[in-house]
Amino acid sequence: MVADASLSALRERLLQKQRELLNLDETSSDAAKTVELDQSRVGRLSRMDALQGQAMSLELRRRRQAELQRISKALRRMDAGAYGFCESCGLAIAVKRLEFDPAVDLCIDCASDLERGTPG
Ligand SMILES: [Zn+2]
Repeated sequence: MVADASLSALRERLLQKQRELLNLDETSSDAAKTVELDQSRVGRLSRMDALQGQAMSLELRRRRQAELQRISKALRRMDAGAYGFCESCGLAIAVKRLEFDPAVDLCIDCASDLERGTPG
């Protein structure tokens, strides 16, 4: 079980990270718009570059959205009093692991099972 003091520190970190990601998302949608506008007047090669850059920024954006989802899930678990317990086996997640990544939702055992591709 996570102590109240560390819990509020972890919540603060999650909220901070959430703000950062939301800010980045706004900045990068502006960048994506600029690329679209430029395409009308650039040649085929730079158009390819532009498209590649756009695909990359879309991929980064997709990752940010996934991260945002993890964060809001973690915040919801905090509200429900279920924070710090493994989503898969229900056991307490090590506080050190939570401090390393406050949005983590699996204990070390389940996470390494997942990485090995053996569920359970
Ligand atoms: Zn587990």
